[in-house]
Amino acid sequence: MTKRLEFTRKTKAERALHAGGLCEYCGLKPKGAAEYDHVKEAADGGDNSFENCRFSCRECHIRKTNHYVKERRKHERVRDKANGSLKPRYRMGSGNNQHSATRPVGKLREFTGAE
Ligand SMILES: [Zn+2]
Repeated sequence: MTKRLEFTRKTKAERALHAGGLCEYCGLKPKGAAEYDHVKEAADGGDNSFENCRFSCRECHIRKTNHYVKERRKHERVRDKANGSLKPRYRMGSGNNQHSATRPVGKLREFTGAE
């Protein structure tokens, strides 16, 4: 659902230089390809700025992402519980149902005529 934003090449290069080529979480030189972590996830309003970027080894990146996903699920569960009954009621009252009911009928007729 959330589009994952990527850092620009320039930001990555600057961050790698800033970190001195060492993972900013564990301080070790990343084995294989280095990764770039969003300090604040895009879903939480984090951007692709230099400040929101961390030069990271794969292990630390995975560890942080897993932790984040777990935390996020917890939040979503609470949120869904809180407004779960409010959402459908709000949609029904908007009157959009009529529009979606009339539009596809015309297309459907065209389609069946061609068959
Ligand atoms: Zn690391």
